[in-house]
Amino acid sequence: MERTLSIIKPDGVSRGLIGEVIKRFEENDIKIVAMKMVHLSQADAEKFYAVHKERPFFGSLTEFMTSGPIVPMILEGDNVIEKNRTLMGATNFKEAAEGTIRRDFATDIEKNIVHGSDAPETAAVEIGFFFNQFEINDR
Ligand code: ATP
Ligand code: MG
Repeated sequence: MERTLSIIKPDGVSRGLIGEVIKRFEENDIKIVAMKMVHLSQADAEKFYAVHKERPFFGSLTEFMTSGPIVPMILEGDNVIEKNRTLMGATNFKEAAEGTIRRDFATDIEKNIVHGSDAPETAAVEIGFFFNQFEINDR
């Protein structure tokens, strides 16, 4: 059993897509074991995306991620890191497969509705960034 961090980004929240994204997880037998709504400060966003700090889009990305509330969630299931990445689709929505969240809803390479951890190590760090042990519901 694996866990990953998903985030519905500010564009997904402001466009009323929280339910749509959650529906796709539930329809695909992905269990949500933690969820909240938070509004990141600039410092929080810079810390979360520290791996991208040398990239030309870092300033714009962190500004976007602080532009409104986001919904981080912990997803659980077999192979859920890869399964979530498949449901999300490619970073660039123009290259994302049919039926993926980004292909269906993203408007921009940056404003692409969802985030998903890309490996077990990053999943563990990202889960710890948003949630403490009491917020994780492992029934
Ligand atoms: P995420 O980490 O959000 O799940 P990802 O792993 O598909 O997305 P990354 O390469 O980690 O993509 O980039 C992180 C985020 O930075 C992207 O989701 C997107 O919002 C933004 N981004 C990536 N590449 C670009 C780019 N060339 N121009 C603008 N924004 C970008
Ligand atoms: Mg990434």
